[in-house]
Amino acid sequence: MSKVFVIGGGASGMMAAIAAADNYNEVHLIEKNEKLGKKIFITGKGRCNVTNASDMNTHLNNVVSNPKFLYSAFNAFTSEDLMELIETTGIKLKIERGQRVFPVSDHSSDIIKAFTILLKERGVNIHLNTKVVDVKKAEKTERGNIEVKLGDGRVVYCDSCIVATGGCSYPVTGSDGDGYVFARENGHDIVETHPALVPLNIKEEYCKELQGLSLKNVKLSIFADEKMIFSDMGEMLFTHFGISGPLVLTASSLVTDIVKNKKITAVIDLKPALSKEQLDKRLLRDFSENINKNFKNSIDGMLPKKMIPIIIRLSGIEEDRKVNEITKTERERLVELLKNMNLTVTSTRGFNEAIITKGGVDIRDISPKNMESKLVPGLFFVGEVLDLDSFTGGYNLQIAWSTGYAAGNSIW
Ligand SMILES: Cc1cc2nc3c(=O)[nH]c(=O)nc-3n(C[C@H](O)[C@H](O)[C@H](O)COP(=O)(O)OP(=O)(O)OC[C@H]3O[C@@H](n4cnc5c(N)ncnc54)[C@H](O)[C@@H]3O)c2cc1C
Repeated sequence: MSKVFVIGGGASGMMAAIAAADNYNEVHLIEKNEKLGKKIFITGKGRCNVTNASDMNTHLNNVVSNPKFLYSAFNAFTSEDLMELIETTGIKLKIERGQRVFPVSDHSSDIIKAFTILLKERGVNIHLNTKVVDVKKAEKTERGNIEVKLGDGRVVYCDSCIVATGGCSYPVTGSDGDGYVFARENGHDIVETHPALVPLNIKEEYCKELQGLSLKNVKLSIFADEKMIFSDMGEMLFTHFGISGPLVLTASSLVTDIVKNKKITAVIDLKPALSKEQLDKRLLRDFSENINKNFKNSIDGMLPKKMIPIIIRLSGIEEDRKVNEITKTERERLVELLKNMNLTVTSTRGFNEAIITKGGVDIRDISPKNMESKLVPGLFFVGEVLDLDSFTGGYNLQIAWSTGYAAGNSIW
């Protein structure tokens, strides 16, 4: 039986504490907030997309940074294992579109409730309002070989210490980067951190005019110095600073670490179902049906209202021109614009708005089997503090559950 400290009462820390307690260890879960799972509470827009009920390959394919590292942890604790564990507490789960798993109640608080029950059942000692300020290797004594300093000045010892402090996204929830400090002090490298799954700032001022406009079934492609790095269909949103929405958040994970050094362009295809030729024919038909109308009144059927003045301005065709006066070249320019609306990405939004942190503790010094430091035996890193991140869909929380389980379960 070991004395185990788990620092951080988020998803990965609670899971690690449960797994360590299952092995009859003395487990102390240390959380600086006044309650557990503050970030879980705001996940999935308050509904908590707790995992994804797909197979391991799908999980691995949705990991952006270092998927291979997760092979063993994902194998040892799958999304099915997680769902089974939660349902033992009486909290029921449901599977929605894209295999996304949510509590039946649609309340994230149910997931926190389930984990609180699991922790209590196993006799985990929970220390709230307790901040850890330092973690270091100590001389091996019967008190333990890892020294942990608390915010009130107390110094405590354990045999194994699991750092589950999260990344630095949404710092109001408590994850403000302490884990990186602990890692550095113990000789670990930190891969530069960037906000990910985050909206994008755009140079073109007209985004402001489009604020609030949501586009469904558009294609978004992202180019880095002319090379396409992302292209997908879906939904996006204009905001006062640029663009957001599901497509944009996904694309941001591929852009965040290169936006400073490369020219990033977001290209929106407003009519992905039509080829340029088909779109030209459609325009010709619309124009011939509106032969005596001004240009500005002839494209209502084709675009959302808010977008019309912008498209007119960008097309260079005077809004009051009669449609029968529009030349073939002008029409071609319009088609080009509707198929390839170019936006210049200047940067991402900050950590305050980021769903996840890209970068973190370098996984080359961490054992993929149990998340133990290769530099300091008995020290473990789990969850978002590691250089691991996924796309949306419940995949990020599964990283937290699986890595937390791998660490806790390996301690005897
Ligand atoms: C708005 C939002 C929505 C999201 N929605 C989803 C979703 O639906 N599905 C999904 O899969 N993922 C989602 N995520 C991502 C997911 O929440 C994270 O991947 C996950 O919470 C990471 O878990 P963690 O345990 O590593 O870190 P965290 O959940 O951040 O937990 C870290 C804990 O450590 C504590 N802590 C930090 N430093 C110290 C210290 N020095 N001493 C003591 N305690 C400390 C913090 O207070 C915190 O409670 C969302 C994220 C955000 C921000």
